[in-house]
Amino acid sequence: MLGLQNLTAGYGESQALFGVDVSVAAGEVVTLLGRNGMGKTTTVRAIMGLLPSVGGRILGGAMQFDGASLVGLPPHRVAQRGLGLVPEGRQIFPTLTVEENLIATAADRDGRGRWTLPAIYAFFPRLRERRGNSGAKLSGGEQQMLAIGRALMTNPRLLILDEATEGLAPIIRAEIWSVLARLKAEGQAILLIDKNLGAVMRLADRHVVIEKGRTVWTGSSAELDADPAVRDDYLHL
Ligand code: ATP
Repeated sequence: MLGLQNLTAGYGESQALFGVDVSVAAGEVVTLLGRNGMGKTTTVRAIMGLLPSVGGRILGGAMQFDGASLVGLPPHRVAQRGLGLVPEGRQIFPTLTVEENLIATAADRDGRGRWTLPAIYAFFPRLRERRGNSGAKLSGGEQQMLAIGRALMTNPRLLILDEATEGLAPIIRAEIWSVLARLKAEGQAILLIDKNLGAVMRLADRHVVIEKGRTVWTGSSAELDADPAVRDDYLHL
């Protein structure tokens, strides 16, 4: 479904990606792993068409979704192709209510896709309880559920999360992991960044390790478990 081959990208004069390869098949959960500053967020921005908005650009390589190139598409066109983003820091609209946040980005206004407002509320009962609260009044965990709900409202074929559980208390993190496991069980394809190795190894089918802007390793959780050298070389902070 998603394929990045030898992707290179940079910000102004400084190159950040030197050859990133990532693939995600339908129904698959894939993680991007690597230490801080290695290029994970840049990869996600490149996929979503968001690099230009932060002074960056794609330099080379290929990036396709369902066989059509994503290179050069603006973010709203990438979203229309079926990619939904939960951005780093959640970035929900603080002055809008929960319900307004959900409706603001809904792509499927005639309600034929899996994710309608009632479906989101059934999946996240907490959001229904908080539907009239402004985004700013929510806890971190509720904000992350809202950010996930908002992305699902576009009925994405691939859901992308940049830092799925960063900054959340352990008990709230566990709730987010269970939400992602329920989505996976429904066949939702997911590409996610998170530093919690234990949790991502339980959830994901495959991992892509990025080091200094390059894909240096890819494999299953079992393969990662059996390869302590990969963890020592690329994942220890
Ligand atoms: P983190 O986990 O810290 O978010 P990351 O793996 O997501 O790390 P990126 O944020 O993609 O890494 O950063 C890759 C490189 O690009 C780093 O050297 C970083 O300093 C640089 N970089 C990121 N954003 C920008 C920007 N807006 N302008 C210039 N350089 C940037």
